[in-house]
Amino acid sequence: MERLDLVISGGEVWTPGALVLADLGIIGGKIAALGAPKTLPDAARIIDASGKVVIPGLVDTHTHHREPGFTHKEDLTTATQAAAAGGVTLSIGMPNVDPPTTTVERYRNVIELGRKKALVDFNHNPSGTVPEQIPGLAEAGCLAFKIFMVRDTGRDYPHMPGIGLHNHGELFRCFETVAKTGLPLMVHPHDQDLMDVLEQRYWQKNDRSPQAYAKAYRDFDGIIWDTAIATLMRFQKATGGKLHILHMSTPGGLEMVRRAKEEGRPVSCEVNPWALFLGSWENVQKLGPYCLGFWVPEAHVEALWNGIEDGTVDLVGTDHAPHTKEEKDIGWKDMWQSPGGEPQIQDYLRLFLTEVNRGKLSLDKVVRITSYNPARIFGVYPRKGTIQVGSDADLVIVDMKKEETISNETTLTRVGWTPYHGRKVKGVPVYTLVRGKIVYENGKVVGSPGYGECVPPLKG
Ligand SMILES: [Zn+2]
Repeated sequence: MERLDLVISGGEVWTPGALVLADLGIIGGKIAALGAPKTLPDAARIIDASGKVVIPGLVDTHTHHREPGFTHKEDLTTATQAAAAGGVTLSIGMPNVDPPTTTVERYRNVIELGRKKALVDFNHNPSGTVPEQIPGLAEAGCLAFKIFMVRDTGRDYPHMPGIGLHNHGELFRCFETVAKTGLPLMVHPHDQDLMDVLEQRYWQKNDRSPQAYAKAYRDFDGIIWDTAIATLMRFQKATGGKLHILHMSTPGGLEMVRRAKEEGRPVSCEVNPWALFLGSWENVQKLGPYCLGFWVPEAHVEALWNGIEDGTVDLVGTDHAPHTKEEKDIGWKDMWQSPGGEPQIQDYLRLFLTEVNRGKLSLDKVVRITSYNPARIFGVYPRKGTIQVGSDADLVIVDMKKEETISNETTLTRVGWTPYHGRKVKGVPVYTLVRGKIVYENGKVVGSPGYGECVPPLKG
């Protein structure tokens, strides 16, 4: 064997079969060897991972990088710095930038920006709302398409015109066109006509508070989500395409996904960290606009954990969606004038590892929902999402015993705050490597902008 560039020695290494005590050898950014401890040849550098666990780098299929257009909130550098600190080695952007990525030219422009500015590997999910553009976008190398069923009322951000689609006919045309590409269609399910009626009931009572907003989204156990998901399911059945449902948070939605999977249909769904860790009524009261998103009642959160356990929920998408404090503060008075969403990407692995330490789920499950499953569903497995010879050396070394307190001060996202400020976690990434290069080491981001590569779908 050639001389190894790097050996990670003495750690417990996650593989699809089991956790094994092994040394990992890396050459040219790829995993070149996986062997019993102390059996690998010499290397230029050795990282001692004794007492730690080595897992594949996280694949976040849902990061709002905010560039171009909203770089006062975040850009491709700050977003991927936060990603590196959170163990994310592949971060896939979303189309509600300015201009929104509805065309091939705009998509290419975003990818060019990423090549100059990203620290970790990346791609971008363009909007699938312009059928004529869809084949070209697929050709240009995107991994999936995104459609919002939301058209906001009283504001045009974060769901700007051109990327929200609620008309069933138009939506169906996009389904048919995306299905032909073979790529997944990610949809934010939302029954806008129904929402128009429900939210007006709060407005008539002069209640535009974050709590009213949270309730409107959850009225009748989240009916605005479920009716939309029912439509999407029917469209999927008609077109046969891959459907990936975003923001899963209702028992009704989970039930529909469960049934579709039983029928063997290519339906998948994501859960967002905010649904599991942030959406309690207590937080809706206390954090107001800083935790919205939406309210997810306790019983619904439990249904989501069950969905993770039984495989109904495929993956975690962070929905990392930074907004400035000024933009959020408007929401205390009028949540309908304030954008939903909050920073997530730096904190979510820590939150899940803490749950592993509490016995809520296994480490293997965390790896599957944050890396292995997203890599498979988005067509980049086995280059990404696993640890095996030949895969990219995208690795996170985690210290399951290390404790930290999440804090605004250490938050790397440009807006400088996190909804998890003050939360104690146990289980922390200490190294993040992208294609064999260390980008995060013991609390410091050491990667450089421009290192990140755009990852296209693997053929075949
Ligand atoms: Zn989102």
